[in-house]
Amino acid sequence: MRLDIVGCAGSYPAPGSACSSYLVRSGQTSILFDAGNGSLTNLYPVIDPAGLDAIIISHGHVDHFADVVGMYHYLKYANPPIHPIPVFSTGDALKTLARLITPRGIDPGVFSINTVNPGDHIAVGSLNLQFFRASHPVPTLVTRVSDGSSSLCYGADGDYSEGLAAASDHVDLLLGESTWVERDQSFPKGLHLDAKSLATFAKSAGVKTLAITHIAYPGDKGKILRIVRENFTGVSQLAEIGTTFQI
Ligand SMILES: [Zn+2]
Ligand SMILES: [Zn+2]
Repeated sequence: MRLDIVGCAGSYPAPGSACSSYLVRSGQTSILFDAGNGSLTNLYPVIDPAGLDAIIISHGHVDHFADVVGMYHYLKYANPPIHPIPVFSTGDALKTLARLITPRGIDPGVFSINTVNPGDHIAVGSLNLQFFRASHPVPTLVTRVSDGSSSLCYGADGDYSEGLAAASDHVDLLLGESTWVERDQSFPKGLHLDAKSLATFAKSAGVKTLAITHIAYPGDKGKILRIVRENFTGVSQLAEIGTTFQI
């Protein structure tokens, strides 16, 4: 499996950096996880969006799906896909997306829309996906992806949860969020992770490699990496746009 970082900024774009978007490929299968604001511009050089086998939207926050709106218009008017591209997400996120794309209804030749819930399994080409519930203020999907020989968890947004623990149990790679450098008392629970809580959790889950993402600007990335490495003994690296992880 190969993971390309297309966007990684947490909650809002950072200077020179788009919001969350991650391309996972195995063999002939390509799945895009999220398309936050600004990410489409980084996607074109990596893959033609018309060639995607599926788009998974983790939840209905704009930093995870804003550019699906632009992608729809690119696909409808500039480069129609041969087959409609399946879009999977929570009912909540899909309702918002449909409203933002067009009041006339999504063209079924461009996107086929599918609601998924925690507990669901789907297969897309050679990849198997299992969905879990995150701890976040809106319905949010954590996804475990497997191609039969390696496994990856995309933690999306969220504080520690049983869903995140189950989804990332002994995975080869956890793409995990550290929105905050350190947890301030004023930060609410059930929203996001910080560097230490991400690293401690990854260690307890037996994760092999940790890719750290969704850092909110101007969070000190060097400090986050230092804290993670003090608390997690596996391989850890910042997810930066253009970075590729091979598992
Ligand atoms: Zn986010
Ligand atoms: Zn969110």
